Amino acid sequence: MSNPNPVRVRFAPSPTGFLHVGGARTALFNWLYARSQGGTFVLRIEDTDQERSTEESYAAILRGMEWIGMDWDEGPHKGGDFGPYLQSERLDIYRKHLATLAEGGDAYKCFCTQDDLEAREEEIKEEGGQWEGYDGFCRHLDATEIAAKEAEGTPFAWRLRTPDEGSTFWYDIVLDKLEFQNELLVDRVIFKADGFPTYQFAVVVDDHDMGISHVLRGDDHVSNTPFQLMIFAAMGWKPPKFGHMPMILGPDKKRLSKRHGATSIEEFQNQGILPAAMTNYLALLGWSPGGNADEVMTREAIIKKFSLKKVNSSPAAFDYDKLAHINSEHIKRLSADDRLDLAKPIVAKGGWSLDNDWLINGVDNHEDYLVRILGTLGNRFSNLVTLAEQIGFFFTEEHFVDQDAWNENVAPEPARAILVALSASIEKNLDMDVAQPASAFEEVVRTTAEGMGVKAGELIHPARVALTGQTRSAGIFEVMELVGARRVVARMKNAANS
Ligand code: GLU
Repeated sequence: MSNPNPVRVRFAPSPTGFLHVGGARTALFNWLYARSQGGTFVLRIEDTDQERSTEESYAAILRGMEWIGMDWDEGPHKGGDFGPYLQSERLDIYRKHLATLAEGGDAYKCFCTQDDLEAREEEIKEEGGQWEGYDGFCRHLDATEIAAKEAEGTPFAWRLRTPDEGSTFWYDIVLDKLEFQNELLVDRVIFKADGFPTYQFAVVVDDHDMGISHVLRGDDHVSNTPFQLMIFAAMGWKPPKFGHMPMILGPDKKRLSKRHGATSIEEFQNQGILPAAMTNYLALLGWSPGGNADEVMTREAIIKKFSLKKVNSSPAAFDYDKLAHINSEHIKRLSADDRLDLAKPIVAKGGWSLDNDWLINGVDNHEDYLVRILGTLGNRFSNLVTLAEQIGFFFTEEHFVDQDAWNENVAPEPARAILVALSASIEKNLDMDVAQPASAFEEVVRTTAEGMGVKAGELIHPARVALTGQTRSAGIFEVMELVGARRVVARMKNAANS
C-alpha cells in the first residue's frame, strides 16, 4: 500500500534538558508542515548518549509538546509502523546497517584512544598544521596491524571512510545551496567503542528507515549535514530534503539564553501564557504569513497559511513583549466557554472552595459563580497568572494581600478611618442577609464619600485593596456584589484593624 502523501517529517530531540524555545520552534515547523500538507509528524527520541539522557528530560519534552498541542502521529506512547521510536531500542537496527558498511569497506575500525588523538593533535599543531578532529590514522592500518590490535583486546570505534576529493552539497530549503569541500571533512566516528552508534549514524539510519522526506532542524546542524549525506551515499540511500532554520536570538541579538528571561516551554506555561498564543508566537519566529495579514492567528489559520517557502533565512530575535501582546490578543478572542474551561482548573488547583452560604445573588453553585465572575472580569487579565489573581479572592474567606498595594493604599491615613466608616455605613444601610446588587453598593459608597466630604476615589482605592488584595480588579461595585455584603464588611474591618 503506497502512501499518496509522501510528506513525513520528524522532531528528534535528545532528552538531555527541557524543551526549549529553539527545540519547540523546530518541532512546530515540522508539525505545521505535516499538518499543512496532510503529512505525518513523527516524534523520535535520540537517546543514544547514555550519559546525558535522562528520564526526567524525556518526560518534560513530551509534556511540553502535549501542552502546546503538537500531537504526533507516530512516536512514544503512540506507536507506528516504523518504530521503535526511541533510539536506545533500535540498537540492533544500527548494528545491522553498520555491518553492511563494514562489509563494503566504507567503515573501518579505529583503535585510537582519546590520549592518542590529543597527542597527534598537538603534534600537528606544532608543525603548523590544522587539526580537523581526525587525521585518518586507522584508515591505513593493514590486516596484520588490525589483527594484532584485536588480539590485544584493544577497544575500537567505527569510522566512515569519507571521500577526499570533490565536494558535498545540497539545496537547502531555507538556506539555498550549501557546499563543503570533502578534503576538509574528516572520517567521523559512526559507532562508539561502547557499542552505541553516534548521533550522526543513528540519525541517518532512522531518517532513512522511517521514510523521512524532509529534515527540518536548527542551523546548528548545518555542519553535520555533509557527513550525514556521506553516510546516505555510502549506504546507497536517497537522502531526504534538508531545511535548516536560523537560530533564535535574544532581544539584544545575542544567542537566546537564560539571562534574557524564560527559555524553556515550561517556564512560559508557568507564566500563564496560553498554549495557542505560544504556538502563534513561535510560528512567527522565522516565518510570517506575509503581506498585511493579521499576525494573531489560531492554530488552524497558521496551518492554512504555513509554507516552507516563507521561512526566513536570517535569525529571529525573541521578543518577550510581543509574546505578551499576542497572548493578550488571544485572551480577548476567547469565548465565554473557553474562559470557563481555563478558569475551572485554576480554581481547582488553587484549592479554593467556598461555603455555599457565601454564594450570592441567586447563584447556588461554584460554576455559576465563576461564570458571573468571569463576565464581570472581561478582559482585565493578560495571562493565566493574572487570571488566577483576579478570581482567587472570590473563592476564599481570607485572602492574599499584596504588600505594596497595602502600603500604598491602606496604610496611609486616613485610609483606615475611611474603611471603618464605609464598612459601618454598608452594615447600616444594606441588609446583610439579602443579596445586594452593585448599584446598592455604589450608592452607599457615594453617599458616604459625600458625607465625609471626600471624593469617591478616596474610598474606592483602600476598599479595593481590602477586598481583592490588589490595586487592580474588575469594577469595584461589581466585585462587591459578587463578594457579598458580609465578606465586604468583614474584609474592610480586617484591613482597618491590621
Ligand atoms: N537529536 C538532535 C538534537 O536534539 C536533533 C537531530 C536532528 O534533528 O537531526 O539536536
